[in-house]
Amino acid sequence: MDLVCLGELLIDLFPAEVGRRLVEVSAFHPKPGGAPGNVAVAARRLGLTTAFIGKVGDDAFGRFLRDTLAAEGVATDGIRFDDAARTTLAFIALPDPHHAEFVFYRNPGADTRLRPDELDEALLARARALHVGSLSLVAEPSRAATLRAVALARAAGALVSFDVNYRPSLWPDAATAVAAIRALLPLAHVVKVNEDELRLLTGDEHPETGSAALLAEGPALVVVTLGARGSAFHSAAAAGFVPAFPVATVDAIGCGDAFMAGVLVGLLGVGDKSWPQRLDGVHLGHILRTANAVGALTATRPGALPALPTAAEVEAFLQTTNADR
Ligand code: ADP
Repeated sequence: MDLVCLGELLIDLFPAEVGRRLVEVSAFHPKPGGAPGNVAVAARRLGLTTAFIGKVGDDAFGRFLRDTLAAEGVATDGIRFDDAARTTLAFIALPDPHHAEFVFYRNPGADTRLRPDELDEALLARARALHVGSLSLVAEPSRAATLRAVALARAAGALVSFDVNYRPSLWPDAATAVAAIRALLPLAHVVKVNEDELRLLTGDEHPETGSAALLAEGPALVVVTLGARGSAFHSAAAAGFVPAFPVATVDAIGCGDAFMAGVLVGLLGVGDKSWPQRLDGVHLGHILRTANAVGALTATRPGALPALPTAAEVEAFLQTTNADR
């Protein structure tokens, strides 16, 4: 198994229209969501074998989410069904195409109730990489389950990837979030942040200096997403900025997850590649360029999961943009 993604699998309730605040939206459409699930699907479409670990409610939405991942070719044996809590819901508004507002129905949601003893340990032992986010760190027992999965993956020699994905409304306060996120930084090999998260964690939102401060906490690679401007990387060997591909943006939902999958596919390779040898500036420049293309294509289509491109679409897009130059 190339990549195991662990964390929230939930229903995104998408707004019927862009340009309205949450209470002004006329209707919400249920779509599969949750960042780690999006990464599992995105990486699968890009050619990796992927699996998901997490918990949903024993309800129509939970079964729909499991079936959606399975239909994408993501292994779903690691999904558990909770008999008490419902599948988590996230209501979304898009006051403009680049900014989303969220209200989570998660008091608690089934995703927070994944227990350490429910982890598929055999799956984690044979994964080449484990990807997690911060939503599963907000509450117990999913926090203990996340930390146990990270420990198992590290013990098995897997790459551990962490998308900080800070959602302020889910945490009691920023200091609690920072403490929980910081605790995971030394255990992750790859850390993804945006500028807001960089400022939250380091007090410095500049992609190069802020990511240097994060790198000092232990990861081998920090990647910074910069929306329609592009992305930046920082490893022990190199730092750099890679411009985005200009595209007609429909919405930026799922772009970060698409980009993350692009980075992981680039590091792991389709086939057996050694990721620590890909942390120099030349490799990272290529990897982020492709990851930017995966993000850009996702921005051109509505929603998260349906918008994620295939490897063939990314290749065709890169060829077209090369021909333009
Ligand atoms: P995050 O969820 O981490 O904030 P971003 O919205 O920054 O993610 O998107 C991730 C990546 O996707 C960006 O670094 C960029 O490469 C690409 N991307 C996002 N939005 C656009 C856009 N409007 N146009 C082109 N590329 C985009």
